[in-house]
Amino acid sequence: MAKKELDWGEIGFSYIKTDYRYVSNYKDGSWDEGVLTGDDMITITECAGVLQYSQSCFEGLKAYETEDGHIVAFRPDMNGERMVNSCKRLEMPAFPKERFVQAVIETVAANEDWVPPYGSGATLYIRPYMFGSSAVIGVKPAEEYQFRILTTPVGPYFKGGAKPISIRVSDFDRAAPKGTGNVKAGLNYAMSLHPIMIAHREGFAENLYLDAGTRTRVEETGGANFLFVTKDNTVVTPRSDSILPSITRRSLMYVAEHYLGLKTEERPVYFDEVSDFAECGLCGTAAVISPVGMINDHGHEICFPSGMEKMGPVIQKLYDTLTGIQMGRIEAPEGWIQVIK
Ligand SMILES: *Cc1c(COP(=O)(O)O)cnc(C)c1O
Repeated sequence: MAKKELDWGEIGFSYIKTDYRYVSNYKDGSWDEGVLTGDDMITITECAGVLQYSQSCFEGLKAYETEDGHIVAFRPDMNGERMVNSCKRLEMPAFPKERFVQAVIETVAANEDWVPPYGSGATLYIRPYMFGSSAVIGVKPAEEYQFRILTTPVGPYFKGGAKPISIRVSDFDRAAPKGTGNVKAGLNYAMSLHPIMIAHREGFAENLYLDAGTRTRVEETGGANFLFVTKDNTVVTPRSDSILPSITRRSLMYVAEHYLGLKTEERPVYFDEVSDFAECGLCGTAAVISPVGMINDHGHEICFPSGMEKMGPVIQKLYDTLTGIQMGRIEAPEGWIQVIK
């Protein structure tokens, strides 16, 4: 076996088909044993629940090579657990967490040649997902489901250093107060495509969504949670039942407290207080943290003291520590690094 010959630094973020994917089908009330297959095509009825009523959810995580040459994944058990919660909310049958982790391991191991080399900055993105595969015409949950895991190599998120981004306050809402914002459902993304295209047309990287109920509190962006740093170095993240619980954000809050000795707060964050913060970042699997330099609220610019050239000092430390843990340069908390090979 040999690594694929790709220009790892230049592959970017489009889908590249790898050799194997995992498939398990749910029928007559249970999951089959699951297989790895080379077949990337799916054939389902035209009336499948996913096609008619968007009954689907997904996860996202990464595998990568560490400094000492192992292939590992970061906290896949957390993704497995979150997917169980998504399934409950969407009336889908949960794929057991232990099987989820095992399936991730098998899929990555089978695609070992596609795991980018240490130091390239590239990673193997892992996308577990599930959808209603049987026919549904009256509105109800499907009776059959398919769980799959595909992998695709992705390039380094920050080429030539992490430049802060500018974002804007959206006039659209991402999630209703008791809606589906806290689960990783495809439907949350379908409705975000229109606002993200508007943001991009206006020159912004992302949308900041406020809470739909009162439009006074910061929720998150389309695909990443917020971290703020106060002028006295407290790390603050918004608390809300309609935010998707980011594993990266939860890991960073742990790192802030236990590795860096910083004070942390998870609490409602009012939009009014954002201009008092010293630093701002967006957290998610893709970038770990993207620094935010400016937030545009209908023409009014909130500029963070950390500026538009580089990450603020606290966010930089958080980034360096978590990526150090992921890459095996810094000792990880128990259970964070799943060794695959
Ligand atoms: C996936 C996702 C995140 C980031 O979660 P991670 O587990 O850190 O990758 C944040 N917000 C939304 C809406 C998401 O779908």
